[in-house]
Amino acid sequence: MATPKPAVSVLGLGMMGSALAAAFLKAGHPVTVWNRSAARTGPLAAQGALPADTPAAAVAASPLVVICLLTNDNVQELLAPLADDVAGRTLANVTNGTPGQARELAAWAAKHGAEYLDGGIMAVPRMIAGPQAYVFYSGSRQTFDAHRETLTALGGTKYVGTDPGFAALYDLALLTGMYGMVLGVMQAYALVGTEDVSATEFSELLVPWIGAMLGGAPEWAKAIDSGQHLTDVSSLAVNHAAIPNFLTAFRDQGVRTDLFEPFQAILDRAMAEGYAADGLSRIADLLRK
Ligand code: NDP
Repeated sequence: MATPKPAVSVLGLGMMGSALAAAFLKAGHPVTVWNRSAARTGPLAAQGALPADTPAAAVAASPLVVICLLTNDNVQELLAPLADDVAGRTLANVTNGTPGQARELAAWAAKHGAEYLDGGIMAVPRMIAGPQAYVFYSGSRQTFDAHRETLTALGGTKYVGTDPGFAALYDLALLTGMYGMVLGVMQAYALVGTEDVSATEFSELLVPWIGAMLGGAPEWAKAIDSGQHLTDVSSLAVNHAAIPNFLTAFRDQGVRTDLFEPFQAILDRAMAEGYAADGLSRIADLLRK
């Protein structure tokens, strides 16, 4: 007979929490679920989950308690009355938040005798348990190892360190790269859209262009790690000379300049501080100051 799989409780059954609970069920774990609006437990109960009437009952039901609310303020609010209920449990909080919030929650858990893992989900709900989904985890290595197998029901696991803030750090950094790209893409569509060029038509040029440019990212990383930013490819001086063309063209064509004005300011500062001959990698340093 196969060994029974460990029980898991999932608190928070929004789009993501529901996908997580369904993935644990599918992997054969006994799953207890709780949600602020009780109606959301219905579809999971139909798949075999056990609805809990209170958060405390859900915490009591399983050694591993996965929490997926909208914000970490919601998580703090939820946990505050559970101080006497969490001892001996592992709280795996996969709510999006900051490194600072994760450290605070970890300290709260430790104070009340619970283990704490912070998680950053790199997937949308429909990707959960699929081959491309993974979750960053940080916190005690021993605690992570104890629950790793259970957590693989959600997709890949990437453990990024004992500092509980690191999962959020990596998560936010990946999303930062993504949002930077999304904003650039939207500005490009807005610009060509001022003339009779459809976004669909332009995307055929834009997508391979961005892919090719991102190929430079490992080189920038090497420059940042070594502090050697001098370039013979595209100096900050060249970029500084070109940036007014963007802002002028945006204005002339009737596109807002808000997104790119900070870029002009950064390049102005790079010139003023003597980095004209450096490549774009220098910007990472300038952003830290
Ligand atoms: P939803 O808006 O679908 O769900 C939010 C959940 O939080 C609901 O269960 C809601 O309960 C609960 N909630 C909100 N406020 C409170 C509160 N004060 N007390 C108790 N429960 C509360 O969001 P998602 O499920 O999509 O997202 C959940 C987390 O997962 C977020 O942090 C999000 O950033 C992260 N995430 C989401 C991704 C996505 O693609 N959706 C991708 C990666 C991460 P109720 O039903 O009662 O309103």
